[in-house]
Amino acid sequence: LSEVLEHEQDRPSETPDGHHQPLMVNTGLAVEAVASLKSRVSGVGLYRTEVPFMMNERFPSEQEQTRLYHDQLESFAPLPVVMRTLDIGGDKDLPYFPIDEANPFLGWRGIRVTLDHPEVLMVQLRAMLRASVGLDNLCILLPMISSIEEVETALKLIDRAQRELAEEGVQLARPQVGVMIEVPGTLYQLDALAARVDFFSVGSNDLTQYLLAVDRNNPRVASLYDACHPAVLGALSYLATESRRLQVPTSVCGELAGDPAGALLLMGMGFEALSMNAPSLSRVRAAIRRVPLTDARKLLDETLALPTTAAVRAHLRQRMGEWK
Ligand code: PEP
Ligand code: MG
Repeated sequence: LSEVLEHEQDRPSETPDGHHQPLMVNTGLAVEAVASLKSRVSGVGLYRTEVPFMMNERFPSEQEQTRLYHDQLESFAPLPVVMRTLDIGGDKDLPYFPIDEANPFLGWRGIRVTLDHPEVLMVQLRAMLRASVGLDNLCILLPMISSIEEVETALKLIDRAQRELAEEGVQLARPQVGVMIEVPGTLYQLDALAARVDFFSVGSNDLTQYLLAVDRNNPRVASLYDACHPAVLGALSYLATESRRLQVPTSVCGELAGDPAGALLLMGMGFEALSMNAPSLSRVRAAIRRVPLTDARKLLDETLALPTTAAVRAHLRQRMGEWK
């Protein structure tokens, strides 16, 4: 099997009926671990910057961050690299910046932390911008957005970082800026978001957690946590339709994109790109190469009509078995 998958990796991510489905990779570790994937992906769909922060003993300096980000951007250039600003809080703590809360997933997380500490965010933004000089493939992604004010404040800080660099003689084109769609409330503000940003990236992990009110890491309720819950699939399908109407390029970077059956459903919905951990790429590519887009759309329609997660999973298992 591994030989077959190895072979699959060098083939285009294309369905038998000729639909090209861009696949991207999620990163966070040192670039050496993923740079070899460049020829097999359409870029980095999610670079989780908190990973190197978590492995440090203090906030990395602007210079250290610049080096780190430059390595990522350069290794994948000219392909786009989506760099997410620091997404700590929830389950992700920095040893040198402890956050102690009763409800961390509903508390001080992601953009909420960095907007309260603009000095931390500014260093990161300046490092990202500086790292992109001469490469032009930086996209900045804002995590845990739950209001338009947060987007506007973050955009102002990005502008300010750019102005500061310009004063130092570093001239840059404005990078693409996007928001994570992972708090359910954003589903009802897509028009206002679309007017302010260049792209959306769907965090299906948190969107599932918040739509279903199920802690994504609590084993007691783990059986309730599934991105194939009909409500989550309905929300994703709505989002795909709306982002097309708004002409906002939208990708999915949560775990669902790395699940072959999930990837087929997302392709059927029409998402622009699917971004996943490196080990999932070959399995997803194999599924895409086996299933025509028309069949993926049919699978989606059948699935959206089912009332329970169990029924969805059973149906997906059956159809995936037929395509083996
Ligand atoms: C998500 O929430 O789906 C996501 C991609 O971000 P993270 O898993 O890092 O919260
Ligand atoms: Mg998330």
